[in-house]
Amino acid sequence: MLAPPWIKIPPGGYGGIEWVVHYLTDALVDRGHEVTLFAPGDSVTRANLVSPFPRQMPDRIGQTMYDVKNVASCFRQARDFDVIHDHSGFAAVPFAQLIDTPLVHTLHGPFSGDNCAFYETFHDSAHYVAISDYQRSCCPSLQYAGTVYNPIDVEELPFVDRADKEDYLLAFGRICADKGFHTAIEVAKRTGSRLIIAGAVQQVNRDYYETVVKPEIDGEQISFVGEVSLTEKWNLFSKARAFLFPIQWPEPFGMVMIEAMAAGTPVLAFPEGSVPEVVADGISGFVVGDIEEMIERLEAVDRIDSRKCRDYVKVKFSVDSAADHYEQVFQAVAG
Ligand code: UDP
Repeated sequence: MLAPPWIKIPPGGYGGIEWVVHYLTDALVDRGHEVTLFAPGDSVTRANLVSPFPRQMPDRIGQTMYDVKNVASCFRQARDFDVIHDHSGFAAVPFAQLIDTPLVHTLHGPFSGDNCAFYETFHDSAHYVAISDYQRSCCPSLQYAGTVYNPIDVEELPFVDRADKEDYLLAFGRICADKGFHTAIEVAKRTGSRLIIAGAVQQVNRDYYETVVKPEIDGEQISFVGEVSLTEKWNLFSKARAFLFPIQWPEPFGMVMIEAMAAGTPVLAFPEGSVPEVVADGISGFVVGDIEEMIERLEAVDRIDSRKCRDYVKVKFSVDSAADHYEQVFQAVAG
């Protein structure tokens, strides 16, 4: 299992790919597979951990250097493995032609014209797995070994039933324009609702935060709590009346949606990217066309059954189901 070098497994804060690697790695170990995880040295895993660095490298200083070192240390041992499952972006794929071990590569990002062409160039280097049908449709010419939704371990998470929810809306994630925090703020202001915004502000998005989000924070109706601990994250997700996800980009999956639904919190989301596949409209929230519809639907979230919301995630996005799918892919490519 080849993880990116930036964030430990499991992550302490931000890290969608790393949660997926965490759930899957431990599930495969529990199923009796012998798994080696290449990840930062401060990772905690049931697998055999190999790390070219003592700890996570979040500042992305020397990005290429660490990426390449991670891939090299894995490929050096390639003969020891039946399959390498790669989550490391562009770093491993081109070099997989140089090893005999099959490489399964999970596509974690959105497709833009350029990266579809990149993967097409290396179409016979790896066996590609998409994380949603939507993502797959953006680069249809690539040969796919499967589509496997990102999983979540619902049993590990707190659940708060509708009657015990608190009276706030939640917007959670990387603070950036793509995730539509400005629209969430507008929904809260126009409906007189409380909004809690939580998430890391990466350097590249600092300007958006400073000029668009920060001026709206009054600490009462609109609060900003920054990047929070895991305990606080689940507290925020489970107690929220609804999770707002007015995204403005083609989300390839969107872990935060399944996190909210797993905690029994309905999602109100724009229909970009994978959203219509991930949210069960009318059962775990509502897929709405625009801000007017989001505002209109806000009252209806109180009629969503929190238990059904969570059960939907248990069935569709379970760790078991993802592990089953990946086992099938591994079996197929390992021969
Ligand atoms: N996350 C977090 N703290 C933050 C921002 C995000 O813990 O400040 C988590 C979030 O809960 C999710 C992951 O990081 O598990 C982000 O994955 P997602 O697919 O939602 O978004 P993206 O990868 O596009 O940022």
